Parts: sequence; structure tokens; C-alpha cells
Amino acid sequence: MSVTALIPAAGRGTRIGGARPKQFLPLAGVPMLARTLAVFQSSDDIDAIVVVVPAGEETLCRDDIVARYGVSKATRIVPGGASRQASVAAGLRALGADAAIVVIHDAARPFVTAGLIRRVLAAAESSGAAIAALPVVDTLKRRSPDGRGLVTIEREGLWAAQTPQAFRRDLIVEACARAAVDGFLGTDDASLVERLGHPVTLVEGDPSNLKITGAGDLRVAEDFVAVGEPGR
Ligand code: C5P
Repeated sequence: MSVTALIPAAGRGTRIGGARPKQFLPLAGVPMLARTLAVFQSSDDIDAIVVVVPAGEETLCRDDIVARYGVSKATRIVPGGASRQASVAAGLRALGADAAIVVIHDAARPFVTAGLIRRVLAAAESSGAAIAALPVVDTLKRRSPDGRGLVTIEREGLWAAQTPQAFRRDLIVEACARAAVDGFLGTDDASLVERLGHPVTLVEGDPSNLKITGAGDLRVAEDFVAVGEPGR
């Protein structure tokens, strides 16, 4: 079964500050996007890669990342949309005819491993949909409706979703189309599939699979690289 990785990298990265979107910024000398793509390039489970970048950055991505770092599986580089969900939809439209399984992974999580990709894919191949996620370990609070107090939320059974998230192609395409018709905007891909009533398998993720959102995360990521990229 042919497996395509879809890498949404079309965020403007405004929370991190800086002139370029965060995924193009160097992380210990190598752009975050190049690091993420390298994991999928070297994974035997991945046949092709679709990269979704901010409109106008396609050539930069092709020359400075894909060609420069030898990401030969990334044959399709397409412009994204205003939301992550729109960017994923653009990537789905660019899939090759033979793609049967799609594994979606944020460019902003460069410490993903081939092992985690394999485990999520194996689960998706049997159930149709699977995501990496970690059990919530922090105690969760919500401000009370009057804004003066706090309410503690039972964390038993709660999971924090990560990427990779993998799906049968027909399922994620249908889920995306249905969300667009309904005007539903989810914060991950699985939430669109859940709306169809299709079960999604949870696969234990990896605490090292950090999402780099703010400048503080970038500093933590630099430290990770410095101590030998744990988890690889
Ligand atoms: O903004 P956030 O950190 O949630 O983005 C998660 C991933 O989605 C990042 O890799 C980002 O580049 C991508 N994204 C996208 N298109 C957008 C917004 C975010 O591809 N419009």
C-alpha cells in the first residue's frame, strides 16, 4: 500500500518572532523543516512526501530545503491556506493517484522518529485512522464562568494529541470535505474524522516529539539537538 507523508509547513510562525516563518529558521544550523523532512526521507515506510508551504515560498522550499538537503521523495510542493486545516486540504488535493494511506505530520515537530511513524502507520493500516498522543500528566484547570475562581478538570482518560496522524486516503479526504461543507474548523486532523463517527486509534506518542511554537521552544529544541537528538 503506497504511503504519502503530508507535511503542513504553511504557518507564518508569527508567535516566534523573526523575519521568516519558523519552519525555515535554522535549528542548530539546519532549518526545522529540513530536519522534519529528513526523518520521512529516511523512513522505509514512506513512498512520497507532499510539502505545503506559505504561498510564494515554493521555490525557496524547493531550492534551499528539498534540493539542498536531498529530500528526493518530496516531489510535490504546494501553497497552503489561511488555516492549518486549509493547508492540509491543499496537500490532499496534491496527492498522487497511488497514495492509499496519508500520514500527516507538522513541520513544527522535527524530533519525530521513524519508529513512531511506523507504529502510527501500522495502527492506521488496520483501523483506518490513528494518531500519536500522550496521556495528560498535568492537572488541568479552567477559569470558572465568573472568571474569579478555578475549576479542576478530571484528567483521567485525557490524551494530548500529537502528530503524526495517519488515515486511509478516502477517509481523510471525505472528512475534510465534510468539515468544509459544515464550516467546521478543527485543531487537528483526527477531529474531522471523529465527526464522521469513524473510530480513531490512539498510539502512545513520544515526549521528545516536541512542537515548536514559541521562541522558548526553539531554545529547548536547540538544547535537544546539542545533547544528540534524543529519541533517534
Ligand atoms: O500554528 P501551529 O503551530 O498550530 O501549526 C502547526 C503546523 O501547521 C505547522 O507545521 C505550521 O507550519 C502548519 N500550518 C500550515 N498552514 C497554516 C497554519 C499552520 O501548514 N495556515
